[in-house]
Amino acid sequence: MTEAPGVTGGRTPGGKEIGLNGARRGAAAREIAATAGRAAYPFTAIVGQDEMRLALLAAAVDPGIGGVLVLGDRGTGKSTAVRALAALLPPMRAVEGCRYNCDPSGAGGLCDDCRARAAPLPSRTVQVPVVDLPLGATEDRVVGALDIERALTRGEKAFEPGLLARAHRGFLYIDEVNLLEDHLVDLLLDVAASGENVVEREGLSLRHPARFVLVGSGNPEEGELRPQLLDRFGLAVEVRTPNDLPQRVEVVRRRDAYERNPAAFGSAWAREEARLRRQILAARELLPDIEVGDAAIERAARLCMALGTDGLRGEMTLVRAARAVAALDGDSEIGDDHLRRMAAPALRHRLRRNPLDEAVATTRVERAAAEVFAA
Ligand SMILES: [Zn+2]
Repeated sequence: MTEAPGVTGGRTPGGKEIGLNGARRGAAAREIAATAGRAAYPFTAIVGQDEMRLALLAAAVDPGIGGVLVLGDRGTGKSTAVRALAALLPPMRAVEGCRYNCDPSGAGGLCDDCRARAAPLPSRTVQVPVVDLPLGATEDRVVGALDIERALTRGEKAFEPGLLARAHRGFLYIDEVNLLEDHLVDLLLDVAASGENVVEREGLSLRHPARFVLVGSGNPEEGELRPQLLDRFGLAVEVRTPNDLPQRVEVVRRRDAYERNPAAFGSAWAREEARLRRQILAARELLPDIEVGDAAIERAARLCMALGTDGLRGEMTLVRAARAVAALDGDSEIGDDHLRRMAAPALRHRLRRNPLDEAVATTRVERAAAEVFAA
């Protein structure tokens, strides 16, 4: 059972619910009931939140960007956006009988079982998964459990796949990632970056492909986001409650139309959804052919130097994200415009000192970008 967006109250690391009043809890229960089995809210119907939408799209085109951290207010549709994006993507072909939903084309790697089978591999259609990672999850539940005793006594690999296996080729969503234990976050980010889950226990090891878009949400006001955690996320975007009246009205108007008749609302947005679906698929095809010129790399490096970001992860991520945006635009090379649009998401969480004084960080990146790109 996944959680409906906006129903989770503040939680302590122990998972105990706090801060939900009775009325909200009632509304939450109704929302959960209503969510089961109905069409997801269309991604293209999301009002505003341009930065979050672009970052999620870039990550959907290139999961190797390394995860998206969504910072900001509660009730701004973070979880809705992830579910909407997954629902927008076309169903995938997956190897019949494979516990990891390997791609029958072999793209993204095959698990040992599939590799051992004769080609062509039989396949079936599955939805793009969205897996929620609960805060109390154990490492075994996340990476999978290797049954050492069974493996040793019967000479077979007894492995129970975990949430990472379920998220393969889809999305892994963590609400309030700042409350998750450090070692789990590290592990998730490692797997998200490598595209492979390796489980090692007492000399036994098992690996399977695990390519997914990691999306973590966090509210800096409700728990510390450690710099070493921040830096590991590819992109960090801000979402806010809109303070523009027409935008707020539009959000409520669309949400209300959707709640009253999800199917009709979905039909009204079907063309837009189909257009964006084609755009994402085309971008994925185009991605490997996009030129990354020296000029673009130099711009990215110059920007990072101007901002004094530590290490080289900043420019690597910026270039990679800009390439995904170029692919979405149907362009054959990275230009200043692509770099500029991804500068804040790729860099704001890597600034020294006060990286989460959000307004300051964003302003600093924008100011530096204006200078570098004017040169
Ligand atoms: Zn497989």
